[in-house]
Amino acid sequence: MRIILIGPQGAGKGTQAKRLAEKTGARIISTGDMVREEIKSDSELGRKVKEYNDRGELVPDDIIVEMAKPHLGAPEGWVLDGFPRNEAQARTLDETLEELDVEVDRVVALEAPDEALVKRLSGRRQSQTTGRIYHIEHDPPPQNSEEDPGPFVQRDDDTEEAIRRRLEIYHEQTEPLKDYYAERGLLVEVDATRSIPEVTEEVLDAVGERA
Ligand code: AMP
Repeated sequence: MRIILIGPQGAGKGTQAKRLAEKTGARIISTGDMVREEIKSDSELGRKVKEYNDRGELVPDDIIVEMAKPHLGAPEGWVLDGFPRNEAQARTLDETLEELDVEVDRVVALEAPDEALVKRLSGRRQSQTTGRIYHIEHDPPPQNSEEDPGPFVQRDDDTEEAIRRRLEIYHEQTEPLKDYYAERGLLVEVDATRSIPEVTEEVLDAVGERA
């Protein structure tokens, strides 16, 4: 199964990608995770992409394509989380998939209004110990827990300014991809404001898997 997940930041792409991958056995290809790994390693490339990441700007296409490309031939299939993010990347992806002689099965767009997303993202905290994501209001980090001692930190690009910029870029550059894939009959839109299991159920339905 080869699925592209499109959606604004905070719509739950990462969460749904994980649940979808567990259900289908596909591999998750998250360019955002690759960017954060590179930053963590403090490589020359990491220092370069950090500037874009922290401002909420897109990393240049050639860098992102280089990161994603080696994974696209995975025989177990994949869920693309955060790639492609503009039309140039979508075209490059098409070319690569043609070379590999594989096809996209579905493009799932997660939908949620901006204000809900800003709220979700500005309250988001991640445990530096376990990587688990919490929300200060809806799912607060545990206090004095052995299972997850934290510390609980905000992502460098979860500041209000960077969040607004990422949403602006999403509407300008990524959202038009919905038409790009709808024209090919691949797009399914899913309401992402509901609970995580409800969204998963609809996503699984959209890709032809039973919940
Ligand atoms: P994400 O976790 O998907 O929100 O990605 C975090 C950051 O990584 C983005 O704000 C960009 O700076 C960079 N990034 C991830 N995927 C892409 C992509 N497909 N194109 C350009 N930049 C990306």
